[in-house]
Amino acid sequence: MKKYLILLALVLSVSAFGGDKNVRKANYASQKRFKALLLWEPHAERDHVDFDKQAMEFFRRLNWGQGFQLDSTTTLDGIPLDSLKQYSIIVALNAAPSSPQSRANFERYMEEGGGWMGFHASAYNDRRTNWPWYVQFLGGGVFKCNNWPPQPALAVVDVTKHPVTKALPKEFVLPASEFYQWTPEPRANKDIQVLLSLSPKNYPIGIKDIVYGGDWPIVWTNKKYRMIYLNMGHGNQEFKDADQDLLFVSAFRWIVSRDPSGNPFDK
Ligand code: ZN
Repeated sequence: MKKYLILLALVLSVSAFGGDKNVRKANYASQKRFKALLLWEPHAERDHVDFDKQAMEFFRRLNWGQGFQLDSTTTLDGIPLDSLKQYSIIVALNAAPSSPQSRANFERYMEEGGGWMGFHASAYNDRRTNWPWYVQFLGGGVFKCNNWPPQPALAVVDVTKHPVTKALPKEFVLPASEFYQWTPEPRANKDIQVLLSLSPKNYPIGIKDIVYGGDWPIVWTNKKYRMIYLNMGHGNQEFKDADQDLLFVSAFRWIVSRDPSGNPFDK
């Protein structure tokens, strides 16, 4: 009899739990939730192309079950603004718009609520780039220096409660990469929120090209836009760490979740 009472109590507690308004049911997609566009550069340096190919495979795997529509392109030329606006996110893999028309379309796309997640050389700019809007979009920094060769580095989470970083350890070692420093430092810009930095414990970093100090943000967002920049993206070692993979997924999800037409993950 006692056994039955325990069983009954168990059943009651389970059904009470199931009726709790705070417990959300799984929301299986009945259709593709959103559209994403991968932009890559097949004629870049080999280490960047290696990353781009692995990244495309990473996003294809993220799309197992076809939760979203995933397209890829090597140029934004020829894509009308209206078509571009159908994408909830453009993932720039070591690539950036270069022609006047594609730059103008990209500006409009971002100014009107578009989403962007850029890796590594997608933010590279110097005097020859000649695109002031893009530089302010990225936070105002121009390429300053880098470590060489690529190597692992200790990262520190700057904002632990942000949707992109909240599940990450406070410090973790990033896979081998070439990291860029910028001038002026993006953190000095009031519109920029830095989410992840290289730890000063890494200094000196490099064997051939050595960096001895300086503020070194590597993941940030410009709060005026639906964007995130990640400095990773060099070589074929970038997808070998679960923490970094989680960072990439969380960043992608965060940008998409703020789509002005509504959060696709709630649909
Ligand atoms: Zn590189």
